[in-house]
Amino acid sequence: MRIDILTLFPEMFQNVLGESMLKIAREKELVSFHLHNIRDYSKDKHRCVDDKPYGGGAGMVMRPEPVFNAVEAVELLDDAASTKILLTPQGKTFNQGIADNLSKKPRLMIICGRYEGFDERIRSGIDVLEISIGDYVLTGGEIPAMVVIDSISRLVPGVLGGDDSLQDESFVNRMLEYPQYTRPAEFRGMKVPEVLKSGHHSKIEEWRMENAILRTQERRPDLLKEKTE
Ligand code: SAM
Repeated sequence: MRIDILTLFPEMFQNVLGESMLKIAREKELVSFHLHNIRDYSKDKHRCVDDKPYGGGAGMVMRPEPVFNAVEAVELLDDAASTKILLTPQGKTFNQGIADNLSKKPRLMIICGRYEGFDERIRSGIDVLEISIGDYVLTGGEIPAMVVIDSISRLVPGVLGGDDSLQDESFVNRMLEYPQYTRPAEFRGMKVPEVLKSGHHSKIEEWRMENAILRTQERRPDLLKEKTE
């Protein structure tokens, strides 16, 4: 998978892309990341990318011209057509299902906003999937982009050591994961459930399923409701 990231702050990504699973994804050549500074695509002599909103009001708005130029030029850098993601608090709320769908695409282009967001013609004139990472407003799209990139990249086959670990995870099958324990068997008086130490695989599976359902009922009953709808 190829991921192009269009941002005004490419240097913010260096550490995140250079560590842990994202580093491994790059090293295994399963995912490649390409950073592009939107400012480089401004034809303005001051490389300006924002302007005052029509009608007045607070803050600045991202101008259409540099974003359209960047999207069109970057699209030509690879033969595969990209799925374009516009990060905005007004978008569809990101979840594991969307991450799963996007992880199957050959190429993504992620567009990060700043200031008071995008000129409306960017949303309407470019074929984008508008994504929000939650009902709160951040300063820019870079942190949302990192969230999206991390969650998608780990779903690309081969990125995680054992892809089995993806099967039982929270939100797969619209459930939360069962409680997990590691050594020691007793810590400060708190004991690991006996069944998990029994070596009895079917009983362990049964316990895990029961506890995943219980936990989901307690914490996220909305997930179970959607599952049965
Ligand atoms: N004025 C905009 C509004 O009220 O909808 C918010 C603009 S926000 C300060 C600047 C940029 O940060 C947005 O264009 C977007 O790229 C990014 N951003 C902020 N919150 C976000 C969220 N919850 N999900 C995705 N992107 C977000």
